[in-house]
Amino acid sequence: MNKKKAVKYSKDFIIADGHIDLPFRLNKEGLLFEKSINLNNETSGNFDIPKAKRGGLDCPFMAIYIPSEKSENEAYKFANSLIDLVENIINSNKNLSFANSPADVFKNFNNNKISLPMGMENGSALGSELNNLKYFFSRGIRYITLTHAKNNQICDSSYDSIRKWNGLSDFGKLLINEMNNIGMMIDVSHVSDETFFDIIKITQKPIIASHSSPRALTPGFERNLNDEMIELIAQNEGAVLVNFGSAFVNSRSNKMFSEIQNTVETWRVKNNFKIEDKKVEEYKNLLIKKMNPFADIEDVLDAIDHVNNLVGDDYIGFGSDYDGLGNTLPNNLKDVSSYVNLLEGLINRGYSRESIEKICYKNFFRVWDANLQNHQT
Ligand SMILES: [Zn+2]
Repeated sequence: MNKKKAVKYSKDFIIADGHIDLPFRLNKEGLLFEKSINLNNETSGNFDIPKAKRGGLDCPFMAIYIPSEKSENEAYKFANSLIDLVENIINSNKNLSFANSPADVFKNFNNNKISLPMGMENGSALGSELNNLKYFFSRGIRYITLTHAKNNQICDSSYDSIRKWNGLSDFGKLLINEMNNIGMMIDVSHVSDETFFDIIKITQKPIIASHSSPRALTPGFERNLNDEMIELIAQNEGAVLVNFGSAFVNSRSNKMFSEIQNTVETWRVKNNFKIEDKKVEEYKNLLIKKMNPFADIEDVLDAIDHVNNLVGDDYIGFGSDYDGLGNTLPNNLKDVSSYVNLLEGLINRGYSRESIEKICYKNFFRVWDANLQNHQT
């Protein structure tokens, strides 16, 4: 009964997702400069058009992900190549379309097309040039995750043991103002706690966490948001787009995946393999099979419940991190065909139709619209 309802909701509502790593997955597959990219057949990836249709996904934000190792110059070039790739993806699939605003997404939805808006993951590509912000906005980027695994010119990262700025740098502070001015959303996923608190003090516009879950479920994991942060995001009228990864929603999984990562890394160094060597991936998958570290879809529902219990249903959305998490996704939530399962879980837990509609897109779009209002470009 609820399954049928979930399928209907998935078709009736726009389903938006704040973070999908399709561009970087295709880059890893050697398709960065490919002009024609067919996504009309089932792939082994988390995202393709048949899966998106089954799951009812309408608005996956494409992550323009820039690894922290790249210099600012390389980062700028790489960001442009990934944006070109998204353009090539859209131009070679009639079911896909560009979207620079919620209004564009509604138009595409009514024409039965999936929108592929873009967010940039790692502001390193901006260098120390504020004008690059306008440039990337003009190329379609609508949010920037300020940093990734390492500190950069803007701020400190939650994953970096060294804290260079103790929050935002001076350039980072200027950047927040300019992002507010031009209508670029600020994404606090990946930043350190100090950075978060600096941002929330300065920003005049609602912010997002494009792919982060509540830290209450994974104590000590700074990459997730603590309750105080979630409350501040709610006061800011922003949105927490919940990350689906096993390590983000279950503390046992979190510990096991970091154990696996450490074991693989020690083994790799000992055997002199490069990070991208297929054998490394194979060894990792072997350990995963042996240890079964996966969370369950119920854990993701717990993450949503946690935010809901804390601040209500106006600040929750989806930020799956599909195609960016490798083989770490929870049972029953393995790819973009699984949103229906998630909606069914929400119905089972007593969420109303109105609540589910907010979580599917309304909350996220409210933030996006608020950022675009009165912007100066
Ligand atoms: Zn990320």
